[in-house]
Amino acid sequence: MTRPAPTQSQFLHILSRNAAETAFLAALHPRPTRVEPVALDALLGRVLARDIASPVDAPPFDRALVDGFAVRAADLAQASGAEPCHLRLNAEVIACGTPPALTVGAGTATAIATGGPMPRGADAVVMIEFTEPADGGITVNRAVAPGAFVGFAGSDIASGQIMLRRGTLIGAREVAMLAAVGLDHAPVWAKPRIAILSTGDELVAAGEPLRPAAVYDSNGPVIVAALRENGCDPVHLGIVGDDATALQTALAAAHAAHDGVILSGGTSKGTGDVTVQAIAGLGAPGIVAHGVALKPGKPLCLAVCDGKPVVVLPGFPTSAIFTFHDLVAPALRLLAGLPRRSAAVVTAHLPVHLPSDLGRTEFAMVALLQGADGLVAHAVAKGSGAVTAFAQADGFVTVPALADGLSAGTQVQVTLFGSQVTAPSLAIIGSHCTGLDAVLGRMDDAGPLPRVLATGSQGGLAALRRRDCDIAPIHLLDADSGTYNTPFLSAGMRLIPGWRRMQGIVYRKGDARLEGRDVDAALATVLGDPDALMVNRNAGSGTRILLDRLLQGARAAGYWNQPASHNAVAAAVAQGRADWGMAIAPVAAALDLAFLPVADEHYDFAVWQEPRDAGALAAFEDALAAAADDLTALGFVPATSKEQA
Ligand code: AMP
Ligand code: MG
Repeated sequence: MTRPAPTQSQFLHILSRNAAETAFLAALHPRPTRVEPVALDALLGRVLARDIASPVDAPPFDRALVDGFAVRAADLAQASGAEPCHLRLNAEVIACGTPPALTVGAGTATAIATGGPMPRGADAVVMIEFTEPADGGITVNRAVAPGAFVGFAGSDIASGQIMLRRGTLIGAREVAMLAAVGLDHAPVWAKPRIAILSTGDELVAAGEPLRPAAVYDSNGPVIVAALRENGCDPVHLGIVGDDATALQTALAAAHAAHDGVILSGGTSKGTGDVTVQAIAGLGAPGIVAHGVALKPGKPLCLAVCDGKPVVVLPGFPTSAIFTFHDLVAPALRLLAGLPRRSAAVVTAHLPVHLPSDLGRTEFAMVALLQGADGLVAHAVAKGSGAVTAFAQADGFVTVPALADGLSAGTQVQVTLFGSQVTAPSLAIIGSHCTGLDAVLGRMDDAGPLPRVLATGSQGGLAALRRRDCDIAPIHLLDADSGTYNTPFLSAGMRLIPGWRRMQGIVYRKGDARLEGRDVDAALATVLGDPDALMVNRNAGSGTRILLDRLLQGARAAGYWNQPASHNAVAAAVAQGRADWGMAIAPVAAALDLAFLPVADEHYDFAVWQEPRDAGALAAFEDALAAAADDLTALGFVPATSKEQA
């Protein structure tokens, strides 16, 4: 295996976002080149490479535009309601698709249907509504102008006329126009064929079992979809390990056989990071930017090798998607001949300070909720390693490189991921619990549209105080009174009783240090054993308050390991990174951990006594009642109003 030592040239020259874009576009000079004929039924979304002239007249013949009679206008010049004119009927009826046989002579008319070809001699059509049958003919009670209700040949499009210009993005209307003149295919720009490679020894393809210490490859599939959205033809080549030789071989083959290559991973400084070195031999000019002042996305690497784009996206999924959309997709759209995508933008304000680094263009994903006055952009900060932030977010705010954060209340422009905001009618901000999903599952599909932002109990209460949400799910233990939730309400708020979740000590089944003991004995054992590692919880969580009460100031081994969720605690114990911690019973059961019950935690919903939408709140309370059995099945104990009182 040849693995060159990582060079110190990496990241020496961090470019600004704009400088990186300029360098990339200057080296690539992206424009479409190949033209291919594509059949009518596959043209949607393609871009015309040539002007299209109509090969025929449309309509191809003079035709009637209404049901009625083909006439000579001069015959009816004197016709009126008082003095109707009489016309003899010719012995034919012109339907659609039948060529006429008889000439319309003076004083005669021929019955004709909408779309029927005009017979010789006639110069106008009189609507059937203005005629009466009379002795083998008709009477007409008004005059018609020559040309009335006749669609003349070529009046829609004349043969030879340009009907669609090159560069037109083909939609349903353009398909209709091509079909109307009989064209069954059109010349369009060939889609750039772009190869996708994910790099990393730790990657596993979706659908395969996950090895220990491995993660699923999410960049590969998302880039495939994003390429397709941007007019490219993706060729998914799968995963390559962090092996210089294997990567060089795969990259060279991908580069030779496609119009460009997009890799992800292996751009940061690390011994396994060989992707950037593999680009070196691919062709001139090579790397034009490695290290861009973007957050997320600093390790982005842009290269052009023999006229083809070769891009290494950062490994972290959020960084990969942002840098793709910001710097790569616009260039690829030019390569595909597509117009620039104009993203929809809305104005909103920030509920709290949005921190950001000075010197880097920063993208902050936000969820939009209807606040007391206008849209509120709540940051969904999960870090660049997160993929699920995309599901919660409606768009992003761009914080310029020269700002070191935006203060609460600032008006911001939110670039939407979709084309419009669907503002939910029931905003729920606070602590998340799997039981809440069960309740929302019981909401009527035709009822209010709920939206949950998981910020923790304190964040939820703050949002409720600002009236930025309708419901704040909370589980806060007041250490002094030993009571849950009620002591934390502001005047004018009330609590909708939710459910109780049993909190307890979790450990791997069979651990002799804890098995068979009660809580006090188990604690005494683990606190006396420096090898018994605990996993703590984040400060401010209800579980942490409970743990601190149990530990009474003791600093158990592992105390500083403080993840922010029950699932993280259970995973640490199940995987042996820690030996014990505190979590709720359903999570312990899901990972087959032993469970020593400690205390009932109350998970309730804080709301205003005067809600902004009483109907939506009532629908939520109905769903809560309807979900009682689901909650019980999940291991929760639904509160009854009697218990609560
Ligand atoms: P790297 O850029 O290779 O140093 O990777 C940075 C982080 O992104 C690591 O945690 C990787 O496991 C993760 N990562 C890299 N590639 C992918 C991928 N294709 N899908 C999901 N995560 C990835
Ligand atoms: Mg890697």
